[in-house]
Amino acid sequence: MATNAATSVSVSQRVLALLVEYFDVDVSFLRYNDHSIRASILIAEWPPRMDIPDPDPLKVVYFEDADPVFAFAETAKKPMVFRPDDEDYQKRIEEGRRIPQTSMAGTPLVSGDLTTGVLGFVKIGDREWKPAELNALEAIASLFAQVQARVQAEERLRYLAEHDDLTGLQNRRALIDHLDARLKAGRPGPVSALYLDLDRLKTINDYLGHNVGDWFIRVLAERLQGESGDSSLIARLGGDEFVVIPGAPMSSVDAEQLAKRLLGLLRERVVIDGEMLTRTVSIGVGLGTPGRDTTSDLLRRADQAVLTAKGAGGNQIAVFSDEMALRTDYQNDIELHLRDVIENGALFLQYLPEIDMRTGEVLATEALVRWNHPTRGLVSPAVFIAVAESINLAGELGRWVLRTACEEFARWRALGVAAGIVLRVNVSPVQLVTDGFVESVAAVMREFDLERGSLCLEITETVVVQDIETTSVTLAGLRDVGVLLAIDDFGTGFSVLSHLKALPVDVLKIDRSFVADLGSNPDDLAIVRAVIALAEAFELELVAEGVETEIAATTLLHHGCHRAQGFLLSRPLIGEDMASLLAKGRVPVHFSAAPTL
Ligand code: C2E
Ligand code: CA
Ligand code: CA
Repeated sequence: MATNAATSVSVSQRVLALLVEYFDVDVSFLRYNDHSIRASILIAEWPPRMDIPDPDPLKVVYFEDADPVFAFAETAKKPMVFRPDDEDYQKRIEEGRRIPQTSMAGTPLVSGDLTTGVLGFVKIGDREWKPAELNALEAIASLFAQVQARVQAEERLRYLAEHDDLTGLQNRRALIDHLDARLKAGRPGPVSALYLDLDRLKTINDYLGHNVGDWFIRVLAERLQGESGDSSLIARLGGDEFVVIPGAPMSSVDAEQLAKRLLGLLRERVVIDGEMLTRTVSIGVGLGTPGRDTTSDLLRRADQAVLTAKGAGGNQIAVFSDEMALRTDYQNDIELHLRDVIENGALFLQYLPEIDMRTGEVLATEALVRWNHPTRGLVSPAVFIAVAESINLAGELGRWVLRTACEEFARWRALGVAAGIVLRVNVSPVQLVTDGFVESVAAVMREFDLERGSLCLEITETVVVQDIETTSVTLAGLRDVGVLLAIDDFGTGFSVLSHLKALPVDVLKIDRSFVADLGSNPDDLAIVRAVIALAEAFELELVAEGVETEIAATTLLHHGCHRAQGFLLSRPLIGEDMASLLAKGRVPVHFSAAPTL
């Protein structure tokens, strides 16, 4: 009996046919037990029935309401024979097979302590079963039990190969198989793919531990399954990434509607360990046409769309567009040119002043790197820093920025315009974990004769938490050589909160996403007020980023935050203009702390 999951039914059927002949009975059947629902399920029978009633009373028989003959199959360990005097049983057989009085021998399939099914032989009219025959049945049943165990193990393996352990959702391999089939020429289209990326899972893992993160993912998976319909395929690609493929062909408009529903569903707040967490998600929608696009075309589109959604701040949907395709070309081009950009002088710095909003006085200045691309004009650092990091150029780029900024700053100081001003320089995460970073910063400070407390490095909070042991040593080293430290984009993760007390940090820069809508968004105001209170509690300087409106400025002032940057106060300036501003010492301000609305 060489058999596997795919062939087991037909092989069983052939064996049953042989046994019917051998034992001279009229019917034989094989049933498996499903103990999870307490039922016996018909797997194979011989001869095949001609007019099977619908529903088939023999297909699934629940033990609870079964007659004694079926009920015995739940736990029996030894063969049993039933003769025509059992009325309940006779009735069910008559309903299912339309045959009158019968007798039956049933042999349980046994695996360990568990009865896993039953092998049955039915004879119309009466039949006696001799002990030798029953022994033979037992031997045959044990063969069937072995096949059953192997088939189930095989199915389990197949399930594991195609599903994700944590969530029971499909995995990448199953997703690819599914899309390969869906995108064959002639299949209905378009096929849409929704690529979901949890925005803050990392924070949850870091802050509350992996168990909470796992729990979070399971809840999410259940909700996804509930909302996207039975015919959809849902796969987890590991980490915090999921793909939903709706079962039916779907236009981009409908796919976006579905994405909106999922976004709303996943956005609800949850409380874990007393912490209120907002789970936000970014969703990218891509479409593929059967016969024209491949699985990787489709997944790449959805992936690129989700990157766009994340890049735009997360918690939103992006549908793949031709423009996005162009942007990929753009990135490739940047990657190509970036390698020699540092030597060929296409990089320069601008400076964003930091202002005391009460007086307009300039307190500090932040160096922002710019790239004058030969054909594309000014390229945003938000784009090319990420590319630089991905091709290991961030270290070199960072050294150039630090050295150039310090050099220019030293010139201003020599002119006598930058006394008491702090120079802030952004540091990419890669730099911070590079060997010898502290020493190289100290060397630059010595070279340009910068006094302690005049240089501040800005780091994002995620990098601090990723490897808290290494970074806290580095940060302590920087503090020792007289460098100030700022946490940039503060509030986007909150993961650093629990470490604030222990870290040698001087400044928090509150992320501009919270500042932009101050005055109209009460949630943002609540966060800003919390950060202000926090900064006070830890005796940290607080700088608001991205002040664009008067209402933002007055709201911040009203709540006690007076240091700020933003287009309302000043645009980023080239070095020369920054020097002139420093010479003046202040920008004009004409607002004051007004009572909030
Ligand atoms: P960041 O450190 O948060 O820098 C502030 C960014 O916000 C700057 O964009 C600045 O021009 C912009 N900004 C300032 N005020 C406003 C405002 O009122 N409204 C709006 N909409 N934007 C405002 P930029 O120069 O494009 O820099 C983007 C990011 O690139 C920076 O964010 C920083 O993370 C990174 N970056 C810039 N220069 C460097 C650098 O030299 N090294 C590294 N590692 N990263 C850098
Ligand atoms: Ca910054
Ligand atoms: Ca920032």
